[in-house]
Amino acid sequence: MENLVYNSKNAWSEESNDKIMDFSIGYKEFLNSSVTERKCFQNVEKMAIAAGFVCAESMSSINPGDKVYFKNKNKNLVLAVIGEKPLVEGTNIIISHMDTPRLDLKPIPLYEDGDMTFFKTHYYGGIKKYQWTAIPLGLSGIVSTKNGDVEITIGDDEICLCVTDLLPHLATEQMKKTMMEGIEGEKLNLLVGSIPSDCETGKFKQTILEILNKNYGIYEEDFISAELEAYPLLKSRDIGLDKSMVGGFGQDDRICSYTSLQAILELDKIPEKTALCVLVDKEETGSSGNTGIKSMFFENTIAELINMQCDNYSDLLTRRCLSNSSCLSADVAAAYDPSFDYAYERKNSCYLGKGLAIIKYTGSRGKGGTSDASAEFVGKIRRIFNNNNVIWQTGELGKVDGGGGGTVAQYLANLNIEVVDCGVALLSMHAPYEVSSKADIYYAYKGYKAFYEEA
Ligand SMILES: [Zn+2]
Repeated sequence: MENLVYNSKNAWSEESNDKIMDFSIGYKEFLNSSVTERKCFQNVEKMAIAAGFVCAESMSSINPGDKVYFKNKNKNLVLAVIGEKPLVEGTNIIISHMDTPRLDLKPIPLYEDGDMTFFKTHYYGGIKKYQWTAIPLGLSGIVSTKNGDVEITIGDDEICLCVTDLLPHLATEQMKKTMMEGIEGEKLNLLVGSIPSDCETGKFKQTILEILNKNYGIYEEDFISAELEAYPLLKSRDIGLDKSMVGGFGQDDRICSYTSLQAILELDKIPEKTALCVLVDKEETGSSGNTGIKSMFFENTIAELINMQCDNYSDLLTRRCLSNSSCLSADVAAAYDPSFDYAYERKNSCYLGKGLAIIKYTGSRGKGGTSDASAEFVGKIRRIFNNNNVIWQTGELGKVDGGGGGTVAQYLANLNIEVVDCGVALLSMHAPYEVSSKADIYYAYKGYKAFYEEA
């Protein structure tokens, strides 16, 4: 009798377990070296060049099979493998984001208090503030000085910074507060020093300024033109006695960046339609800004590609290309966590280890603010995955009246592109140490590759 029942299945199976385990090795390395969106950008560019991609700035025309990349302001890239069909017939896009929640330094960060020196921070993206205290933090970014731009990275096996928390013995008042109020934004100050430059008068801040000046040539005013980001200095590792999971910082959404990147780097035959791997910034703060998906950069890239492919460019060709394109919005999903069962609707949740997650819509309370993918498009994606033995699952983000969240899908949909959210489910999303399943990582890669080849 034909099986009429749908049951999602666990992705671990004897025959692919080795492939699943092997694939996670490169991913962990990528996570460890991509601690900021700028570092991620640098790694992606290096990997693209190594795989034969050429920077678009040095090209005037394109042909099927060409591998080309566009970059934007050191934070945002598009990799393209030119397909057999003209661009106007549409492209296959996978978009993910390289930014992740963190603590940014304020424009005037440095101050001294209690015989110590601190940096003031303004957190970036949705964090649970208490999770950022009492853990080792690194600091990385760029300072634009009168003598040029200086890259800074502080934090390794020997040295780190941290945010302090109150000892439990004195925390009676703090412990009565909600988790939202227990640590306030203005308490997320990075401890950076405690030696005075003058034992009589103090001048603790002076010591840190002297070190910064000696090591990097920077003055206090230079912080005003700086982007310095504090991130958890926690190496990614295998989790579990069976080593089935990956623990690491910034998996939202570098897990989808890495898998969609590997998929396009390893495309071995010329795809029918042009494949585009789009890596953006600013998703965690609403996608605004010139390196977020709401910027013109993406549309400009399509226009540039069309201009490189045909002799008489017209704006209408760009519009038609967008309308004929398909997109996977590759962002992370919430994996069911039995410790917080009350927040999930079990029948429509994603689970760790059940493969790549197709999320038809996100939004909150009545599908507010979401792009709800069409039945036809979800059907097409499902068929591509099934034909290519990609193990996948589906789910919503939490309960109807409790859940919520948004991805870049809606902005692609506004360009009249067919789009559905499709990514990897995480435990502890947005925490300093997030958890993913190696099986899901592997099937994300396989699913994304199948999409580039067949959508
Ligand atoms: Zn995300």
